[in-house]
Amino acid sequence: MSDQQHRTKGGFETRAIHAGYEPDAATGSVIPPIYATSTYKQDGVGGLRGGYEYSRSGNPTRTALEGNIAALEEGERGFAFASGLAAEDTVIRALCNPGDHVLLPDDAYGGTFRLFDKVATRWGLVHDPAPASDLDAVRATIRPGQTRLVWVETPTNPLLNIGDIEAIASIAHDAGALLVVDNTFATPYLQTPLTLGADVVVHSTTKYAGGHSDVVGGAVVVKDLDLAEQIAFHHNAMGAVAGPFDSWLVLRGLKTLGVRMDRHCDNAEKVVEFLAGHEAVSHVYYPGLPDHPGHEVAARQMKRFGGIVSFRVTGGEQHAVDVCGRAEVFTLGESLGGVESLIEHPGRMTHASVAGTELEVPADLVRLSVGIETIDDLLVDLDRALG
Ligand SMILES: *Cc1c(COP(=O)(O)O)cnc(C)c1O
Repeated sequence: MSDQQHRTKGGFETRAIHAGYEPDAATGSVIPPIYATSTYKQDGVGGLRGGYEYSRSGNPTRTALEGNIAALEEGERGFAFASGLAAEDTVIRALCNPGDHVLLPDDAYGGTFRLFDKVATRWGLVHDPAPASDLDAVRATIRPGQTRLVWVETPTNPLLNIGDIEAIASIAHDAGALLVVDNTFATPYLQTPLTLGADVVVHSTTKYAGGHSDVVGGAVVVKDLDLAEQIAFHHNAMGAVAGPFDSWLVLRGLKTLGVRMDRHCDNAEKVVEFLAGHEAVSHVYYPGLPDHPGHEVAARQMKRFGGIVSFRVTGGEQHAVDVCGRAEVFTLGESLGGVESLIEHPGRMTHASVAGTELEVPADLVRLSVGIETIDDLLVDLDRALG
């Protein structure tokens, strides 16, 4: 496909705004048009303009997004998908063969666990869970020679556990495996796994990357060109590509990722401080807290600690459910990473499907995706909701 213009120099925000696209040569349009086209006129047989032939294989709006996210993750190539799970499926089928073993976080995103457990196993993949926060467990669960992928999320959902990317990369590589990091929660503004030794970064761009709760999308970024070739082939061969409208929305979202993340972090820190001092709250989970078991590692590999906060209430499951129902500025709903604050009860909502498994979460847990509204309104809302 055509070259990705992602080598724009400069700081994160400069890359976020400029990488992947030069103002249009014909019109000067500073934003890439939404190329709603399936095919491209050829100048004589095989005379492709800019390498574009058919929009599953390549579309200029998608190319702009792919170059942009590659630049933000400090990778060589980016690929945009129809959803985060489509991106993951393509990584799995591009890089694994029947009989391969995959190590998963024991608190993986539910959809990721389901993809491995209910789909990939039917094609001969074997998987084992291990807590990414426990390097000895990771080492003990890896099967040298058979483990093809070590899959890590950090921070995890909803308990915000932290995995040491650099250390896990070295354990994975010693055993001949590749490290895949799901960077959806941290985003490249807070953490760049490829610079810490990871081989593949995957994203649900539905969350912070898009950032406005108006699109479902996914992305993969790699730095190794052989890996890029394998992903590129399967991206086209499997066809789970991002459409031009969705690509445009995610690209627009990425331009403000830095400023949004700073505000998400500012607000989350104030919410954490408030919750930690509230008598109806028994525990707060946030990697920015000095007593969080992953705090030191998080402080080393992350710029700040993100916008997701979980907490447990003193009144048990019903209290947690009531808090979710009483909140007004915090919207009751699944998903995360948008500008609006969301509240949910993982036990009955996002994590209902893992009840009774090793992924089960406490019944008195509430998860917040802290948005970028006026902080005082968020704190008043939480205070009222806690009762
Ligand atoms: C949402 C999410 C996914 C799945 O992405 P979709 O865009 O919903 O397919 C994967 N990983 C994490 C961490 C997520 O939050």
